Amino acid sequence: MADNSWNEYLLNAAEKGSLQDVKKALKAGADIDFDHVYSESVSSGTALYNASRMGHVDVVKLLLRKGASVAKRVKTSFAPLHAAAYEGRTEVVDLLVQHGATVDIRDGFMNTPLHATCCEKHVDTVRRLIELGARPDLASVYSDERLGQVCPEFEGLKLIQEARKTKLLRCCNPKCGKPGYRKTLKLCAGCKLTRYCSRDCQKQHWSVGHKKCCGHDVYSVELFKAMADDLIAVAQARARAK
Ligand SMILES: [Zn+2]
Ligand SMILES: [Zn+2]
Repeated sequence: MADNSWNEYLLNAAEKGSLQDVKKALKAGADIDFDHVYSESVSSGTALYNASRMGHVDVVKLLLRKGASVAKRVKTSFAPLHAAAYEGRTEVVDLLVQHGATVDIRDGFMNTPLHATCCEKHVDTVRRLIELGARPDLASVYSDERLGQVCPEFEGLKLIQEARKTKLLRCCNPKCGKPGYRKTLKLCAGCKLTRYCSRDCQKQHWSVGHKKCCGHDVYSVELFKAMADDLIAVAQARARAK
C-alpha cells in the first residue's frame, strides 16, 4: 500500500477502536498525526482525535504512548480534549490531561472543553474537568441562561455554578489538583491558560507534555475567520441554488 493508504488505514482503525489495526498501521509507517483535510474548514481529525471522540480508551493509551499530538485540532478547531469532553468520555479526558493537554484549550468560538461538555449532559465529565483545573468562570457562547433553558435539569451546570461560588481554582498539574485562589496560583507565562500551586508542579506538567501544547492551545482569530468564511461561502452557494 502507498503511504497515504496507511494513513487512512490508521484513521479508520482508530475510529473503529481496533488496537491491532492501529498497531499494524503504525508499524507500516503511517503518520501518527495524519489529518485528512477536505477543505479550509473541514477535516477528519487525527487518529487520537477520533479515538478520543469515540471513547476507545486502549487505542488512546497506545497513541499517547507513541507520541500522538494532544494539541492538533480538526479544521473546525476542536482539539481531542474538546471531542472527548463533548461526548462525555471521562476516562479519555483524564488521559489527555495526564499527557499534558491544556484543560482550558479554546476552540474557534472561545469554548473550552468544559463548555463543550455543558451542551451535552455528562455530569461526571464536568466534575472531572473541574477537578483537573478547568476554570468554571470563563465566558462562552453557552451562557448559563441559555443552558438553563435548553436543559433545566442539567446537574453539570449546578456543579459549575457551585465551583464558581467558591472562587477557588485548581492547580493544573493533574497529579496535584490542589485548590487555590486565582491570585496565589501562578499562571504559565507561555499560554496564560494553565496555573500551578508551585514551581515543581509547573515543571512536572511541562515535562509530561505541556511543552508540546503550550502556545498551540490559545484561541486564534484566524481559526474563527476560516470557519466564518466557509460558513458564508456555504450560505451564499445555497442562496444561489434557490
Ligand atoms: Zn503554557
Ligand atoms: Zn500543584
